[in-house]
Amino acid sequence: MQPISDKEIRGSFVNCSKGDARRANLPKGLSDLPWDDLDFLGWCDPGAPERGYIVAERDGGLVGVTLRLAQDVRRSIAKSTICSICLTAHSGTGVALFTAPRVGAAGRQGNTVGTYICADLACSLYVRGKKRADLDTYETLTVEERVVRAVGNLSAFLDKVFDGTSSIAT
Ligand SMILES: [Zn+2]
Repeated sequence: MQPISDKEIRGSFVNCSKGDARRANLPKGLSDLPWDDLDFLGWCDPGAPERGYIVAERDGGLVGVTLRLAQDVRRSIAKSTICSICLTAHSGTGVALFTAPRVGAAGRQGNTVGTYICADLACSLYVRGKKRADLDTYETLTVEERVVRAVGNLSAFLDKVFDGTSSIAT
C-alpha cells in the first residue's frame, strides 16, 4: 500500500469516536514501515495491548477500524488456530479473537463483528514469508495468490463491519 501519515490514519477510523481516533497510539516509525510489503496496516496499541487497529485502502480511500481483543477465548481447547485473513496457522496465542464495533448506530449500541486474526496483525508479512509463524502452513498457492486471498478476506471482514452502511467515513 502507499505510505500514509499520522493524520491520514487518525482520519480514517470509521467505527470509533473522534476522541478515540485522536487517542489511538500509532505505530512508531511510520515512514520506515515496509509499505511495499503491506496490503493493510495493522498494529496493536503500544499503550493498550487489548486494542488493535487495521487501516486499509478501500473504494479509493482509507478505512480504519478499531479492534478489541476478546477476553473470553478458551485457548486451551485449540492447539492451533488459523488467521481468518491470511490463513496462517499459529499455535498458542499467535492468533487472537478480535472484535470490531460495527459502523454507525449498531456499533454504538454495542454490536460487534468478531474474527480470528494474527495476534500481531502482521498478515501481509506472513503471506510474503517476511515473518514466520511457529507452525508451518502448507500452501500450494503462490505469494501473489495468497495476497489476493488475504485482501479478499479482509474486504469481507470490513463489509461486515460496515454492515450495509456507507463506506464513506463521516
Ligand atoms: Zn493473519
